[in-house]
Amino acid sequence: MASPSDPRSYDLDGLRARVLPDRGGRVDDSIPQLADADPDLCAIALALPDGDVRSSSQSDVAFSLQSAVKPFLFALALLDTDGEALDRVGIEPTGEAFDALKLESGTGRPPNPMVNAGALLTASLVDGDGVEGRMERISRGLAAFAGRALEVDEAIAHNEHLLGDRNHALAHLMRAEGTMRVSADDAVAVYARACATMVDAETLALMGATLALGGVNPRSGRRVVPARVARDVVSVMATCGVYDGSGRWMRAVGIPAKSSVSGAIVLSVPGRLGAAVVSPPLDAQGTSVCGRLIAETLGEDLGLHSFATG
Ligand code: GLU
Repeated sequence: MASPSDPRSYDLDGLRARVLPDRGGRVDDSIPQLADADPDLCAIALALPDGDVRSSSQSDVAFSLQSAVKPFLFALALLDTDGEALDRVGIEPTGEAFDALKLESGTGRPPNPMVNAGALLTASLVDGDGVEGRMERISRGLAAFAGRALEVDEAIAHNEHLLGDRNHALAHLMRAEGTMRVSADDAVAVYARACATMVDAETLALMGATLALGGVNPRSGRRVVPARVARDVVSVMATCGVYDGSGRWMRAVGIPAKSSVSGAIVLSVPGRLGAAVVSPPLDAQGTSVCGRLIAETLGEDLGLHSFATG
């Protein structure tokens, strides 16, 4: 096997050019703003332990986090509840779609924090008085992961809240089971706003690096969550982060990651680096088609597969 390349000299624009001709996949159309995404957008960024970020062209283009926010909501819920969040949400993969109307049998808990039911719940567990207070806490928390303040696209948040029927259904289901303790509408409002937080590939790579590097943002040097929380989150990204494609992802790419309908993927390589890719066309499991190819190639070329045995 060839020895892995150095992330500092790796040709990210070359990789981008190699995968760009792949035109498979479909842009999500659950809300107009996602349907309008540029299918040709493709950006890659790597955030290294010394805080340096290496990126391809288009890595300053903004997109909404969508489900790439879920690992960070889980982290904030673990932090703010002193770990009690682990009693309130399961951590088993579902093998089902991201918005399946299904809870853990026997407990009525959401199956894991990386599917919609789980993220609706973890967003309800962060500290804060009412909807406004929790939104404010989430914004501050996401800013700490990013190392800079982040904007929310209010039009996206509004449409996610208005058009997210399955999310409303999930919140009501959890209310009925007694596992969701805030009102269903409040739960969806907070989650929708978190999903509408805007980042670019460079920022998302730094967020992934903060989880990969024990909870400390490598650029600001600030501890955002304890190392144990970061470890818990990255472990669940590894098992559940790519929905019903998590097993195939782990075999082929081997990097803990979270996919999202905006075509973003955040990756956390434990102890090594954070990465982000964005390209809107998605496969049947809601994973960016080009994003997957890029992640797989990076994993190979940089020797990032968690289970490479020789
Ligand atoms: N905001 C989206 C939803 O709740 C997120 C789903 C995803 O990114 O996979 O439907």
